[in-house]
Amino acid sequence: MPVKNRFAELLPEITAWRHDLHENPEILFETHRTSAMVAEKLTAFGCDEVVTGIGRTGVVGVIKGKSNTSGKVIGLRADMDALPIHEQTGLPYKSKTDGAMHACGHDGHTAMLLGAAKYLAETRNFDGTVVVIFQPAEEGGGGGREMCEDGMMDRWGVQEVYGMHNWPGLPLGSFAIRPGAFFAATDQFDIMIEGRGGHAAKPHETVDSTLVAAHVVTALQSIVSRNADPVDQIVVSVTAIESSSKAFNVIAQRVHMKGTVRTMSTAMRDLAQQRLKAIAEGTAAAFGAKADVTYYRGYPVMVNHAEQTEFAAEVAKSVSGACADAPLIMGGEDFAFMLEERPGAYILVGNGNTAAVHHPEYNFSDEVIPAGCSWWAEIVEQRMPAA
Ligand SMILES: [Zn+2]
Ligand SMILES: [Zn+2]
Repeated sequence: MPVKNRFAELLPEITAWRHDLHENPEILFETHRTSAMVAEKLTAFGCDEVVTGIGRTGVVGVIKGKSNTSGKVIGLRADMDALPIHEQTGLPYKSKTDGAMHACGHDGHTAMLLGAAKYLAETRNFDGTVVVIFQPAEEGGGGGREMCEDGMMDRWGVQEVYGMHNWPGLPLGSFAIRPGAFFAATDQFDIMIEGRGGHAAKPHETVDSTLVAAHVVTALQSIVSRNADPVDQIVVSVTAIESSSKAFNVIAQRVHMKGTVRTMSTAMRDLAQQRLKAIAEGTAAAFGAKADVTYYRGYPVMVNHAEQTEFAAEVAKSVSGACADAPLIMGGEDFAFMLEERPGAYILVGNGNTAAVHHPEYNFSDEVIPAGCSWWAEIVEQRMPAA
């Protein structure tokens, strides 16, 4: 069964919503215009309930099927936020806000879930309840976590939850998924090395914080090469180094380093955190300096549940004929919090041969819309078949 005909009819309308969202990107929790537009459309579609202000600017819509003998409740989630990037696509509908851009395709995700909601509210050809979830702040703000903390899952009795992300490099409208750990836990660290500054011609009278920092950067790579099991996945990257000295003849008192740690299991995450602190502090101490380490835990590992993943893949096959095995992805995904609360699955839909997400020339491909919307609708109609 290919894409649903109704979405071919709705394509111009859904595309227009997508372009409107693209022109008006909003960052993190500041999705005020976007949330208002989503709530207004859900209400116009005839959703049984539309609630705003969940997880600050998140929106939830409820659509009841023709019957509810199954008692099932399925959550479908899209993200709404843009990125602080200066758009360089040259599109006629490019961002009207300088320094903000839909460079991850969340404009497409929002438009596709709105399209699915319109269809589901029109047809109601299922036995149970659908909860459509529109979250802010996927790009680092934890909007999904905040919606969960607001009690969303219990309030609407959500039993399973599904998510979708477009993927450049994957053929247009095709799907890919994997069970188990899928997206990495994303943590950040700050290391402040405190030495003793002084004249660069008298190094013996100083404790050179730059030399210490260089050793710390090198030693941190031993977490990956010597602490982690070689078959596990882990990234440790020092991404920023800033010295308190701006001169060629002054040895710095302080060096500040920042970076990120990506892991695919809680055990590896705990190990990395513990080793990072021990290595930075121990290395600094060996040189007579001091290291202050702050470790921030970001998104947890996003884990797809086996049964729902298999079902999501079957639905993808029914829409586009096949579903590929997705690779592990060391990026993070806020949907991890929802999958910690309820069983569910997250799938990738091909964006074709476009610039990568988070690139200033990236654009969501509108040709994805029929396949994406059909997947949403089929998840509902196949999981809760009409009585
Ligand atoms: Zn992104
Ligand atoms: Zn994204």
